Amino acid sequence: MSSATPPSDIPLALYAIGLGSNRRHARHGDPRRVLLAALSELESDDIEPIDVSPIITSDPIGPSRRRYANTVALVASPLAPPAMLERLQRIEAAFGRRTGQRWSARTLDLDILLWSEGAWSDGNLVVPHPAMANRAFVLGPLRAIAPDWRHPLSAKTVRQMAARLIRPKPVDRNAEAH
Ligand code: ATP
Ligand code: MG
Ligand code: MG
Repeated sequence: MSSATPPSDIPLALYAIGLGSNRRHARHGDPRRVLLAALSELESDDIEPIDVSPIITSDPIGPSRRRYANTVALVASPLAPPAMLERLQRIEAAFGRRTGQRWSARTLDLDILLWSEGAWSDGNLVVPHPAMANRAFVLGPLRAIAPDWRHPLSAKTVRQMAARLIRPKPVDRNAEAH
């Protein structure tokens, strides 16, 4: 009987991927359904879904008819960050995302939030995502699935980052007394 050998010696890393949509897709439907379709698209030979947060949605405010949906997925993958970004951008393109329009209405946005191996920075990619600590639509879902994950640069846990964002700043008691 032969002894079992590991299928691969490429180390698996964990990624937290932020998914967002604020546009209907002709075939998939509203932003929530776009995210569900994107989650199944993400799964592949070298991207294994581990967990996914509840999808949060917002109702349109004011005259805008735009709905937002966001979620965060934890995936295991041997891909290095640039290869993971390339994969995410290919999926965005397949959902009709037009390039060169940062922050504009889009069918699908896929961002790398955290990587278990720490920080990465090159001309195209910064990990952890620089804006994550300021975004409730990222930290809320992320806290539901990875509250103890520590930001490699600030050393704060996701739970701490989320609490800091939601809580009002503490009052300066000295200033108040005068
Ligand atoms: P934001 O990054 O503030 O959420 P956005 O997601 O709307 O804005 P995009 O238009 O999706 O921005 O991406 C613009 C560029 O950001 C991409 O071409 C990519 O090279 C770069 N980028 C840098 N860091 C990341 C990251 N962590 N995840 C995804 N893209 C990143
Ligand atoms: Mg984004
Ligand atoms: Mg993006």
